Amino acid sequence: MISIETQFSIFLDNRPGALARTCQALAKDGINILALSISDTVDHAVIRMVTSDAKKTAKVLESLHATIHERQVIFMDVPNTPGTLAKVAQKLAEAGINIEYAYCTGGAEQESGYMGEALVRVKACSINHLDLWIRQGIPAYQTHLPHISGCDVSGTVEQLGPGVRGLKVGQAVFIAPGLSCFACEFCRAGQDNLCASYGIMGAKTDGGYAEFAKTLARDVIPIPKGVSFEEAAAFPLVFLTAWHMLVTRAGLARGERVLVHAAGSGTGHAAIQIAKHAGATVYTTVGSDAKVEKAKALGAEAVINYQREDVAARLKDLTEGRGVDVVFEHIGPQTWEGSIRVLAKGGRLVTCGATSGPSVPLDLRYVFSRQLTILGSMMGTRAELLTLTKLIGKRVLKPMIDTVYPLQEARAAQERMLARDVFGKLLLQPEPAGIA
Ligand SMILES: [Zn+2]
Repeated sequence: MISIETQFSIFLDNRPGALARTCQALAKDGINILALSISDTVDHAVIRMVTSDAKKTAKVLESLHATIHERQVIFMDVPNTPGTLAKVAQKLAEAGINIEYAYCTGGAEQESGYMGEALVRVKACSINHLDLWIRQGIPAYQTHLPHISGCDVSGTVEQLGPGVRGLKVGQAVFIAPGLSCFACEFCRAGQDNLCASYGIMGAKTDGGYAEFAKTLARDVIPIPKGVSFEEAAAFPLVFLTAWHMLVTRAGLARGERVLVHAAGSGTGHAAIQIAKHAGATVYTTVGSDAKVEKAKALGAEAVINYQREDVAARLKDLTEGRGVDVVFEHIGPQTWEGSIRVLAKGGRLVTCGATSGPSVPLDLRYVFSRQLTILGSMMGTRAELLTLTKLIGKRVLKPMIDTVYPLQEARAAQERMLARDVFGKLLLQPEPAGIA
C-alpha cells in the first residue's frame, strides 16, 4: 500500500513562539500536521513537516512569509524481509526518483540501518577545540546529554544502510566534519558551509569518541592510498578551516606575506603549510623555544617566541616596516590588537575563532586609514575538503601528530590541549590501527 503526503521544509525565524504561531495558524485552517522535525541554527529553524492538505498548507505558509521547499513523501508498507527495502529503493532509482532519506519501522526482521546511512568502526578520532567548548557548554550549541564528542573520525565501513552506492563494507574512510543539507539555497550554490542547517559532527550529532560512529553515507570519504587512519583523522577540520580562511576568504596570493598565530596549534600548523603551498612568505609565533625548529620545518621563514619577544616589533623588522598582507587570527583578545597593528596597507585579517575570549577592542583609525579588511570564516566547503584530501594523498600537505591516546584517556588528552603543550594534533584511538 502506498500513500502520498506532501512534505514541506520551511525556514522560520527562530524567536520563541514562532513555531507555535505557525502550528496554530495551520490548525485554525483545519490542516493536520502528521510529522514534524526541527533543526536549529543560531538565528532560524528549519522545519520539516508532513501535512494532510498540501495546497492549503502552502497557502498558509506563504501568508506567514515562510520560505518553503516542497517535496513529496511516500509512505509504504512493504514485506519486512531482508532486502525488500533495497529492492524498492533500486526500482525508484531506476525510474530516476531520488530518495533524500527514508525511515523504517518494523519488528525483529526489519532492515538493518537507515536509508543512506553508514556505520563506521572508529580507528582514530582527533581532538579539536570544539570538543572543549562542547564539554564546557557554549550558547551556540544546545547539546543534549548523553552526548558523544569528536568531529574528526576515520575508520572502516562496518555497515551500510539500503540505497548506499560507492562505498564498500571494510573500506578505509573518514567522515567529513561539516554536515550540510545539500538542498538549501547556499548548498545549491556550492557554499555548503553557509548551509541553513549547518552542523559539525560531534557537536550537532554524536561523534567519534566511540567504537562506532554513524552518519549519512554522502559524508563518508575514502582515505587516499598510503594515508594512515591517524592522519585521516588529524587533517579534516583544521586543514579545511585553514584552507577556507587563507585561500578562499583572504585570497592569499603568491609572494604575499602572512602572519600565522600559534604554529603548534591544529589550525596553525595547517595554515603554515597551506600558505607556503600558496607561495606566500610565512611568519609564525610559538610559546616556547622547543617549538621553533618544528615550525621552521613546516615552512615558516621566521618564528617568533611571543613569550619573550615583541611580535609587532619583530614583524616590523622582518618586513622593513611594511607589515604583512594577511593575518591568520584564531586566538582573539590575547593577540587581536597586535594582529591589526601588523597589517600592511590594504591588509586582510581573517579569523575563525576566539580561543582566548569572545570580545576584542577595535581601533577604527587603523581600519579606514590603512583600508583593512576583516574577514570571518568557519569550516569550509565539501569541494575544498575533497581538494585537500587529494593534497594530503599526494603528501603536499601533511598533518603532524603529536600524541595518540587510548580512547579511555580522553580526559588527559583534553587537559593537554588546554595546556597548549602540543605541536600538531592529539588523537584518540579505540584500538591500534595500521596503514589504511
Ligand atoms: Zn544547506
